[in-house]
Amino acid sequence: MSRVIGIDLGTTNSCAAWVEGARPVVVPNREGARTTPSVVARAADGELLVGQIARRQALTNARNTIYAVKRLIGRKFATPEVERARQLVPYAIVEAPNGDAYVEMGSKMYSPQEISSFILREIKEYCEAALGEPVEQAIITVPAYFDDSQRQATKDAGTLAGLEVVRIINEPTAASLAYGFGRRAPETIAVYDLGGGTFDISILEISEGLYEVRSTAGDTFLGGEDFDARIIDFLLEHFERQTKVDLRGDSMAMQRLKEAAEAAKCELSTAPTATISLPFIAVAGDEALHLTYTLSREQLEDLVRDLVMKTLEPCRNALEAAGLKREQVQQVILVGGQTRMPLVSRTVQEFFGRTPSRDVNPDEVVAIGAAIQAGVLQGEIKDLVLLDVTPLSLGIATHGGLFTKLIERNSTIPTRKSQIFTTVTDNQRVVEIQVLQGERELAAENKPLGKFELVGIPAAPRGVPQIEVTFAIDSNGIVQVTAKDLATGREQSIEVNPAGGLTKDEIERMIAEADQYRREDQRRKEIRLLRNRLEGLLYTNERVFKEFGNLLEGSVRTKVDDALQQGRRVLESEDTAVLQAAIADVQLAARYLTEVMLVDPTRMLWSSEAASGKGTEG
Ligand code: AMP
Repeated sequence: MSRVIGIDLGTTNSCAAWVEGARPVVVPNREGARTTPSVVARAADGELLVGQIARRQALTNARNTIYAVKRLIGRKFATPEVERARQLVPYAIVEAPNGDAYVEMGSKMYSPQEISSFILREIKEYCEAALGEPVEQAIITVPAYFDDSQRQATKDAGTLAGLEVVRIINEPTAASLAYGFGRRAPETIAVYDLGGGTFDISILEISEGLYEVRSTAGDTFLGGEDFDARIIDFLLEHFERQTKVDLRGDSMAMQRLKEAAEAAKCELSTAPTATISLPFIAVAGDEALHLTYTLSREQLEDLVRDLVMKTLEPCRNALEAAGLKREQVQQVILVGGQTRMPLVSRTVQEFFGRTPSRDVNPDEVVAIGAAIQAGVLQGEIKDLVLLDVTPLSLGIATHGGLFTKLIERNSTIPTRKSQIFTTVTDNQRVVEIQVLQGERELAAENKPLGKFELVGIPAAPRGVPQIEVTFAIDSNGIVQVTAKDLATGREQSIEVNPAGGLTKDEIERMIAEADQYRREDQRRKEIRLLRNRLEGLLYTNERVFKEFGNLLEGSVRTKVDDALQQGRRVLESEDTAVLQAAIADVQLAARYLTEVMLVDPTRMLWSSEAASGKGTEG
């Protein structure tokens, strides 16, 4: 079995870790950084960029630079969350034929799964380079509050990246594994995780290597990006008041604003004020307009206070579900970059009545926990058992549009539950099983995960047939539903393939496409290298030719001249063979030029004088 890596696929940044000698370690990326921006872009020349290089060019290529795609994964286009995301980002979010939210990059439509797969692929590759062996399996973390479609979609992203996702684990659970690693004393802990796009709170009991999640709650659409948006809105209004110019339609200005807003937000975590300075942000008539503003920490706190307070409701719910009072929580662990904001840690401290722990790096703790779980699966780490829970209730739609729950939220997984149902009308031969996830009473108000029919029920009066419906959730939190007619033994089941999502065929097609793109990207890289090489050769040899060309014998001179001219002509070629041929010709020409230079060393001296500007053209 190849080594399993742990991946924190974050909204803003991603991080990978593995276990080495029974200890988890973070894998640095190609640039030596321990986290990689979760950013993917299509450059003007068609090249696919991932990570820091994608982030660096976001300013000049905002419409084709995709970030925070985690907020869209496994979601339908027509939802309030996606509507909000559309207002926050400069790239286009569009509706796919199956109703899912997709993004546009380089005038092509991509599912969030594909975009995530590009990030995962990059992680896989840099891990392989660092490990010196192929990496084929991974544990990927997701917010605890992700529903089944979001989990499935994350798993699909792994498959698209060429990774077998051996386990999906919840981010706060992973964080607690990292926190508890090496500690033996029993403790009740709360993991408060506020990242770029999501908020999660989990309550766990840990003792002697047993990690038992008691409850979890959260908001999959609340995170640092919303804090940034508040600052952006504030600055936009300030600028509009001052200049009467609305910057909202200008994607370049918006991207600059976003970067400046986030930078100011982070700076205000340690400094009392931060100055935002965006020169030449717009033009009015002939006049260049600049945006300068000094934001204080108090102002920022006023702008986002309600967002921070919004995290407390899930905290209360999680405590209640765990049957605990705030005082019974012995340790609070902060996870996610946004918890670095003093207002956040202060609010958490006031709520739980204790100082939160900062023992583990909030940017790396989740990946480290995933690596620990990988170590457990591989037998490298022993005496550690993880009992996680399902974040949302699961059930089916029943007569009259009601929602009948089979598995309550916060049930320990893996789990399985069965219940007997029956028909509504006489001689009903078919029943439809509509699988739903959520907490509302009415079926229509919960999230549909999928549906199927059980056919061939023998004719009988209503209420007589016995249909046993079984729900099973595996340790990834992924759901399987079976319906069985007890009279005939006939059964039908689905691994809940969320209404929408990617089908098997689509996944296969996308893998083939990704391979093609990778080949295309490699070809582009090769072309770029060849062009650089040719350009370098031309640069030196043209200069030599200019000075020494007249010493060459007539036919050779023509040959050299032709090779150099041909080289210039094909420099922009897309054809590797043409470029290679030109390089070979120029290299040959270079040989002639070297020879003629070596014929008479005294001329070389003359030439070096010429080069330093003392000689004259001979
Ligand atoms: P994560 O998803 O855990 O990587 O969290 C990323 C979020 O944390 C982004 O919204 C960042 O802007 C935010 N963040 C990172 N560092 C800081 C900081 N020093 N102060 C406030 N927010 C931060």
